[in-house]
Amino acid sequence: MSNDIDHSKLSIETSHRPTWCEIDLDAIKNNILQLRHMLDSKVSLFVCLKGDAISCGAIEIAKTCQENGVMGLSFGNIDTAIACRKAGIHLPMLLYPNCLPSSAETLERYKLSPTISSLEEVSLWREFVKGGLDVFLKVDTGGLRAGAFPEKSVDVAREILDAPNLSLVGVYGHAMVATSGTSSLEINSKIEKQIQLFTETLNKLDQENIEIPIKMFSSSETLLCFPEADFNTVEPGRLIMGIDFPSIPLRKRQWSPALKALKSRVVSIKRIESAVLAADVQLFTVDTNTLIGLVPFGWSDGFPKEVKTTAEVLIRGKRVSVIGPVHSEMLRLDLSQVPESMVGDEVVFLGRSGEDNISIEELADQWNTNVFGVMHAIRNSVSRVYL
Ligand SMILES: *Cc1c(COP(=O)(O)O)cnc(C)c1O
Repeated sequence: MSNDIDHSKLSIETSHRPTWCEIDLDAIKNNILQLRHMLDSKVSLFVCLKGDAISCGAIEIAKTCQENGVMGLSFGNIDTAIACRKAGIHLPMLLYPNCLPSSAETLERYKLSPTISSLEEVSLWREFVKGGLDVFLKVDTGGLRAGAFPEKSVDVAREILDAPNLSLVGVYGHAMVATSGTSSLEINSKIEKQIQLFTETLNKLDQENIEIPIKMFSSSETLLCFPEADFNTVEPGRLIMGIDFPSIPLRKRQWSPALKALKSRVVSIKRIESAVLAADVQLFTVDTNTLIGLVPFGWSDGFPKEVKTTAEVLIRGKRVSVIGPVHSEMLRLDLSQVPESMVGDEVVFLGRSGEDNISIEELADQWNTNVFGVMHAIRNSVSRVYL
């Protein structure tokens, strides 16, 4: 191990553990503006921040949304929504079902709107809400997850209108179809039918003179394929984070990936000299003179337990491979081809190092997943640095 450590290399802004990802807020802004250009000016934009904004960090993404004309935010986790509220976000916030009506006081305090799917839920919220609460009705068009079935939706809406402490601010749906083992034609025809069911439900509500301020259905894929499902509000998540759908030919735009880099640093180096330890006590066998570098990034941080054997990372602009097994919070690199490596050197899993670059698509391939899978995998133990 070298004695010549540059200590300045070992610190980053947000954490003492030098493992971080770089999130580009200009990319988020660009994606919002792309969408604004694409959509009719009468269509509003909600942004789905579930999964901590696909690991980009909900608070910073919410701030960028608020500064760029987004109308509302939706969350799969009430705690994330509260954290955003406390950070100064004043936009309307929709919660997918993830808390109980007994938390009504908290929802009132932070102005969070729950999803209602049944008559039972209406009566529970009505019982627990002290002052007043804006709520959304969800329509289930086939996902069999949250939502009232289309034929029940009018009854539930009426029941919400009857509750003096609940205001119906919106009705939303979400296309959910099985994608494995199905042709894209079959997928599209199922989504079309779900859009039709949602449209019919809105029409019925209209016939009953039930006024619905927010009518929302499209998440990213539906939004790109079915302009007729824009209604008056759309609700993408992945597109805002710059995750593209290359197979969808409609509404093609340049989306900018928000995740620009994933990096760590070498914290320890050892050379495998001959006869240091007998081969029969070693965890695995490597050639004599192999240089092993340890990096504080492991599967509990989101690095996969299994990567392609061809997986490479960059150090000093050169490609080196990961030596398995990967551990909970660290992994090994084979630094034999970069003998000048030192403790503190930057290790690039995604992004640029010298002349070379690992793209998010290449990283996704190494990890046997797609871009969404890479982003989703990255845990909170990896610091986020905002560009
Ligand atoms: C996940 C989700 C979205 C956003 O989906 P993307 O594919 O990320 O755009 C929108 N609405 C609901 C109800 C969701 O569950």
